[in-house]
Amino acid sequence: LIRIRNLNKYFDSFHCLFDINLDVALGEVVVVIGPSGSGKSTLCRCINRLETISSGVIEVAGKPVPAEGRELAQLRAQAGMVFQSFNLFSHLTVRQNVALAPIKVRRLSKDRANALAMELLGRVGMADHAHKHPGQLSGGQQQRVAIARALAMEPRVLLCDEPTSALDPEMIQEVLDVLTGLAAEGMTMLVVTHEMGFARKAADRVVFMDGGRVLDVAPPEQFFTNPRNDRAADFLAKVL
Ligand code: ATP
Ligand code: MG
Repeated sequence: LIRIRNLNKYFDSFHCLFDINLDVALGEVVVVIGPSGSGKSTLCRCINRLETISSGVIEVAGKPVPAEGRELAQLRAQAGMVFQSFNLFSHLTVRQNVALAPIKVRRLSKDRANALAMELLGRVGMADHAHKHPGQLSGGQQQRVAIARALAMEPRVLLCDEPTSALDPEMIQEVLDVLTGLAAEGMTMLVVTHEMGFARKAADRVVFMDGGRVLDVAPPEQFFTNPRNDRAADFLAKVL
C-alpha cells in the first residue's frame, strides 16, 4: 500500500533521511522505533507531504504522492495522520470534531456525518463524551477522539507519530488498546512509538532507524530477542 524507494530528505544542507526503502503492505502494522532525532517524524511527514522530499519516490496505493493540489488532498484523505499533540478544535464538541471532515471534505450530509461520528466514537470508547468540548477531556480521551477523527476520512492507512508520548502513563494503555484493536481489524498502520510492549504485540514488522537511515527491518520476535544490528541492540539495552 505504501512504497518508498530511495527517499532522501534535506533540510537546507542537513541530510536528514538517507536512501530510505520501505514497504507497508495492505493490512500490515509497521512500527518505527529509534533514538530521538533519527528521522522518524520526518519520514511520517514525508509520506503525506507535510514535508517536501528531496529525491526518491513515495507511492500510496500504486500512485506517486503528488506534490500539491487536488490530488494531494485526495492522498491526504487516504493517509490519516495521528500526532503526538491531538490538535482538536477546542471550540467544537467531540462529535463535531469527528464529523467536520466528512461534511467538508467527503460532502456527507450532516445527519450521515453525525451518525458516522457516533459510530467511530463508539469504536474508540468515547460515545458517552460526544457532547463535551476537548478541554473537558483527559489527554488519553482527546487522543482517542483524534483517532476517531482520522478514521472519519476512511483512510486506507493510518500514520501515527508518537500517539502516546504526550500522555500520562495511566492514559497510554487506553490509546494503545484502541490502536491494537484497529490493527486486529486489519487497518494498515505505520506507527512511530517508544512503547516497546506495543511494538512487540501489534507489529508485523519493526523498523529501526538511526541517523536518518533504516538500519533494520525485522519481525518483532527477532528484533527484540536477537537484534541483528549493533545500534539496535544498544538502543534496546537502553529502553527495555
Ligand atoms: P523524536 O524521537 O525526538 O521525535 P525523530 O526521530 O522524530 O525524533 P525528526 O523529528 O524526524 O526525528 O528529526 C530528524 C532530524 O531532522 C533532527 O536532527 C532534526 O533536528 C531535523 N529536523 C527536523 N525537522 C526539521 C526542520 N523543519 N528543519 C531543520 N531540521 C529539522
Ligand atoms: Mg518525532
